[in-house]
Amino acid sequence: MLSAFSELAGNLESIAQQGLYRSRRIIESPQGIHLNLDGRQVLNFCSNDYLGLANHPNIINAFKSAVDRYGVGSGSAHLVCGHTTAHHALEEELADFTGRDRALLFSTGYMANIGTIPALLGRTDTVLEDRLNHASLLDGGLSSGAKFIRYAHADAADLDAKLTKAQGNKLIVTDGVFSMDGDFAPINALAVLAKNHGAWLMVDDAHGLGVLGKHGGGLLQYNGLKQDDVQILMGTLGKALGTFGAFVAGSETLIESLIQKVRTYTYTTALPPALAEATRASLKLVSTEHWRRDRLEQVIRRFRVGAQQLGLQLMSSTSAIQPLMIGDSHKAVAISNALLDNGILVSAIRPPTVPRNSARLRITFSTMHEDAHVEHLLSVLADTLK
Ligand SMILES: *Cc1c(COP(=O)(O)O)cnc(C)c1O
Repeated sequence: MLSAFSELAGNLESIAQQGLYRSRRIIESPQGIHLNLDGRQVLNFCSNDYLGLANHPNIINAFKSAVDRYGVGSGSAHLVCGHTTAHHALEEELADFTGRDRALLFSTGYMANIGTIPALLGRTDTVLEDRLNHASLLDGGLSSGAKFIRYAHADAADLDAKLTKAQGNKLIVTDGVFSMDGDFAPINALAVLAKNHGAWLMVDDAHGLGVLGKHGGGLLQYNGLKQDDVQILMGTLGKALGTFGAFVAGSETLIESLIQKVRTYTYTTALPPALAEATRASLKLVSTEHWRRDRLEQVIRRFRVGAQQLGLQLMSSTSAIQPLMIGDSHKAVAISNALLDNGILVSAIRPPTVPRNSARLRITFSTMHEDAHVEHLLSVLADTLK
C-alpha cells in the first residue's frame, strides 16, 4: 500500500525538471548593496531595500532603545494587551504620512491583503483584480467568496467593461507599482472608473511607498490622489522603509470596520513594539531625506541609458524594478548563476510568481548603488547575455 503523501518526492523531481526548483541562499551580513554569501562579497541587485534604510544607524538605535523600554515580545494581539504607545504613535504617523484619516498596523503585507478583502466583501459582491496583482491580493480576493474577476494588465477599458456587468458592492484591487514588472497602475484612470461605477478602489503600494511622491508618500501622493479617490491604501514597511510589517490606511469607518472584522488582525500577535519605534525613525528619514529618492532616480536612469546602448531588452518600467525578460526558466536560472559567478546577485523570477514563459531577471536598484556598480552590472550583463 502507498503511504500518505507518496507523491511529494515525484513532485519535487518534476519541479526541478521544469527549471522551477527554488532554494534559499544563506546571507551572512546585514542588508546592503554588498552582501556576504558563501564566504565572499557579492554586489546586490535584488533587494527591495530601495532607499538603503534596512541597516541605517538611526533606525538601529531607535530599535535598540525601544527594546530597553518595551522588551522584545508584544505578548498578545492588538485587541488583547499587545497594542502599545509605540504601535499607536506609528499608526498616527502613517496616517499623516499618507494623508489618510487613520492607519491600522498589520504584521505583514500578506496578512493585510488576505484579511482586508474578505472583511469587506461577501458572496453577492464582486472583486475586480489586475491580472498581474501580487499573490496576496489574488488570494485575498479568492478567499472572500465574492465573484472574482481579473482584468487585463493595466487595462482601464477592459476593467470598464467588466465593471458594467459587476453585481453588488464592487471593489477594484491593484498593485500600485507592479512587483515583478516595475510599471505603474493607470491609477488616475482607475480612480475615475471607480467613481463612475460607484466602486471602491484598493491600492497595494508596497513598491511605491517611500520611493515615489514629494515626501515619499507613494504612488498616490505622486498622482495627488486622496482618500476620496482611493478608499483603501495598503503599504508595507519591509521594503523602502527598511523594517518589517504593513498597514492599511483610509477613513475612520474603514479602519474601525477592519478592527472589528479582519481575521488576520484579530487572531495574531502584534508586531514587537521595538519594530514600531524603528519604523517611526525610518519614516522621519524617508519624509525628510529627499536626496535618497533623487539619487535612486539617477541610478535607475543611468542603468536604462546604459542598457539601451547595449541593446538590452528593457521593460516599460521607470521604477527601481528593472526586469530583463528571458522567457525560459532554465535559461533565466543559468544567467542568474553566471552573474553570481561574477559576483553579482540578481534573482531569476519564474512561474508561478510570473506568467508562463515569462521568466525574468528582476534587477532592483538602491539609493546606495554607485555609478561604478551600475557600470559593472552592465558590463557583466553584456558579457553574460552574449
Ligand atoms: C512584498 C509585497 C507584499 C507582502 O508584504 P510582506 O510585508 O512582505 O508580507 C504584498 N504586496 C506586494 C505588492 C508586495 O510586493
